[in-house]
Amino acid sequence: MKFYNLKENEEQVSYAQAVKQGLGKNQGLFFPKSMPKFDNIEELLALPLVERSVKILHPFVEEDLTEFELTAIVTDAFNFPAVLQPISNERAILELFHGPTLAFKDFGARFMAKCLQAFVAKDAKTTGQQKPLTILTATSGDTGAAVAHAFHGIDNIRVVIMYPKGKISLLQEKMFTTLGGNIETLCVEGDFDDCQALVKNSFNDKELATTVGLNSANSINISRLLAQICYYFEAVAQLSRAKKDLGDIVFSVPSGNFGNLTAGLFAKAMGLPIKRFIAATNLNDTVPRYLETGEWSPNNTVATISNAMDVSNPNNWPRVEHMLQSGIVEVDCVTSVSIDEEQTQSTMIGLSKLGYISEPHAAVAYKALQYSAKEGELGVFLGTAHPAKFKDVVESILGQPIGLPKELADCAGEPILSQEMRSDFSQLRTYLLK
Ligand SMILES: *Cc1c(COP(=O)(O)O)cnc(C)c1O
Repeated sequence: MKFYNLKENEEQVSYAQAVKQGLGKNQGLFFPKSMPKFDNIEELLALPLVERSVKILHPFVEEDLTEFELTAIVTDAFNFPAVLQPISNERAILELFHGPTLAFKDFGARFMAKCLQAFVAKDAKTTGQQKPLTILTATSGDTGAAVAHAFHGIDNIRVVIMYPKGKISLLQEKMFTTLGGNIETLCVEGDFDDCQALVKNSFNDKELATTVGLNSANSINISRLLAQICYYFEAVAQLSRAKKDLGDIVFSVPSGNFGNLTAGLFAKAMGLPIKRFIAATNLNDTVPRYLETGEWSPNNTVATISNAMDVSNPNNWPRVEHMLQSGIVEVDCVTSVSIDEEQTQSTMIGLSKLGYISEPHAAVAYKALQYSAKEGELGVFLGTAHPAKFKDVVESILGQPIGLPKELADCAGEPILSQEMRSDFSQLRTYLLK
């Protein structure tokens, strides 16, 4: 299958090219030329996660990966489960945080890393030479850890991660600055926007970009989204095994850059029985306001306790918009709700009274579901991060201690290896070229 640029439609590339390139011309996002459709959904749901995921992903990647190669990649990438936990009769959480960095981003980042590794090796074989490849990413928390762990130890791929000094929690910092090897980390004197500006400057510097082979690993990369389709199928498979009626399933997705929602819409378009989606946001409510008024007017980003969703100009929205407008999914299958800080906190307390310890992102999604689910709908909300990743916030809201899972406890005692840097492009340029 080919992928085309949503802005410059004549640009069409293979899956491998889309993964290596990230973005198309004029910053356009890549989108599949057609949507594979399954009419044997029940058979598909009966399969184990890895086998089913290979079937789901194969039509997208078959030009570049054999089924054998894809199976090896998926087996390696999805080596942890997605767990559906019932909260009540009509509500369940899909826990996506059982991977190495305790956030759903492990699914996409690991799949992307293994694909890129395969494509780099193939290119080196055909051309007889090893081209440099540098993944440059700015992070405000979860992305950095997922990307660092996914690429750690992969030969011939250098990873440089920038983060704002003093703006992320110590545990978050430890999760990606303690690895070493091919993972280099830069602690930037500035905020997240400064880090992102440095990434942009680097990509705009064509000479630099070509010399070091720059690529990004954020959720605009189509490989990350494709991987995320698979756990929507896994959720419905688990509901089916629990003998639930699959007629009225609603997913509530805690949204920041809207990559997760995009993947859900892909799953629906491919034939998975999902009635509709609720895109849950925090106070950064560009999308709910847009769906209500038809006006796209991002405000300044505000800081919230669900900080991974503090995004006011979501970079995956053009893909969602395209699917709604071109009829790939029904135009009314997405509604959006904004949840404030007070509601987020009281929802975490409410969930803990039901016996479930959650963190702010999942709580936003649960509240949005409570707010807009209709009688008879079966609501699944996505648990995008482990509560321990937000230990301080969770402990202060719930007034009870949260234990550290092994993944966090292991890195907590390791030394931080990052280098400090001013928010200065020429300094970064010199660093990248060294
Ligand atoms: C990244 C992230 C989100 C937002 O996901 P998008 O795909 O960007 O909408 C939500 N919750 C957590 C914990 C995250 O890390």
